[in-house]
Amino acid sequence: MINNPLIFAAISDLAGIVRGKAFPVADLQKRLRRGVGWTPTNVMITCFDRIADSPFGALGDLLLVPDAEANVEVDFGDGGQVERFMMSDVTDLEGNPWDFCTRSILRDALARLEKVGGVELVAAFEHEFQFKRPPLPRSNAYSLAGFVERRQFGEALVSALEMGGLVPDTFMKEYGVNQYEVTNGPDRGLRAADAAVILRELTRITAGRFGEEVTFTPIRDAAGVGNGVHIHMSFLDGAGAPATHSGDHPSGMSALTGSFVAGVLKYLDSIVALTAPSAISYLRLTPHRWSAAYNNLGFHDREAAVRICPVTAKDPQDIARQYNFEFRAADAAASPHLALAAIVHAGVQGIEEKLPAPAPTEEDLSLLPADILQARGFVRLPESLEEALARMEANATVRGWFSSDLVSVYADHKRGELAHLEGMDQTARCAAYESVY
Ligand code: GLU
Ligand code: MG
Repeated sequence: MINNPLIFAAISDLAGIVRGKAFPVADLQKRLRRGVGWTPTNVMITCFDRIADSPFGALGDLLLVPDAEANVEVDFGDGGQVERFMMSDVTDLEGNPWDFCTRSILRDALARLEKVGGVELVAAFEHEFQFKRPPLPRSNAYSLAGFVERRQFGEALVSALEMGGLVPDTFMKEYGVNQYEVTNGPDRGLRAADAAVILRELTRITAGRFGEEVTFTPIRDAAGVGNGVHIHMSFLDGAGAPATHSGDHPSGMSALTGSFVAGVLKYLDSIVALTAPSAISYLRLTPHRWSAAYNNLGFHDREAAVRICPVTAKDPQDIARQYNFEFRAADAAASPHLALAAIVHAGVQGIEEKLPAPAPTEEDLSLLPADILQARGFVRLPESLEEALARMEANATVRGWFSSDLVSVYADHKRGELAHLEGMDQTARCAAYESVY
């Protein structure tokens, strides 16, 4: 077959969908300089491809500018096409970052962290997903049999991730029916979110090579398991030394980590609209699902919104390097860039406000009466996307983190998404999301 190879200039947009345009490989140098044309109203294309009320109408021109540092080229060696895509920025025609470019939004948040906290973020995203093929008679939770069933897929995926420039960490059979988990190693700053996008897309593409489809949807049905995205975070100081841990604190947090985590928890109910942004995300963010239902910190506790992860090292230097905390109130309906930007801004806000380190909880918060929860500063996270959007929009601090009117444009975008779901029952809604994530 005749074939002129193409590179896809990719963005992870407000809907958490990867969109863009392709150009011939031969034009790469030109495209790196001049970009590819793009349209402002595209930012209002919801995950269901309906265009929400757009402040831009038919007006305006933008550019997708590919980033050669975020290039993915994977030859599966199966005689099929070589996959090529490059993470890209959205800029105006002069090359200035566009206010709704998710990579630029994350860059701003990371710059604020560096300015206020003097540290660089290191992050790794854990992803759960499910094969869509009809379920097996049993879930095969964590079993060798479940792993072996998908060993060939797992090995192809790990290989594809390596070719895509990632450092694969683990692949496992998760608890749920047809549910697996893939994790890649930590990356610095922007690269961590790029890696999450690359991992999701290569997982889908690899499944396609096996004639299968996978879904990262937050939840397939209310009675089943959720597919979480858990974001592990740690900090490096200006000299590149670990800055997350301190032996002085009972749960090991440095003062900076303590304030950062306190900020994340303080603003959590106003940012979940950005980290767990689908209508069905709120079926997952309920107690006893090992996701997150309250704004609490856990020490090894998988029901907490932020969890301090176990450290196996013994040497103090290794402990400091390994020590990290995990944000669990995220899912793959969110753009990794936007989710991470919101978390980082909330954390930096905590540093600016000099918030004290939160005390980890050890009990089941869902059993505590409302007045006790309130007295201890805990809030139940929003129970619907509508409520999450309202809390985000009502929070002037959160609005102030972003340039232009990101929060209101984002809320309008999400209302367009909700309009698509009108009249659908829960099963139909889950099916709708499963078909797009
Ligand atoms: N599936 C759970 C979630 O929705 C997480 C399970 C785990 O701790 O890995 O977040
Ligand atoms: Mg898991």
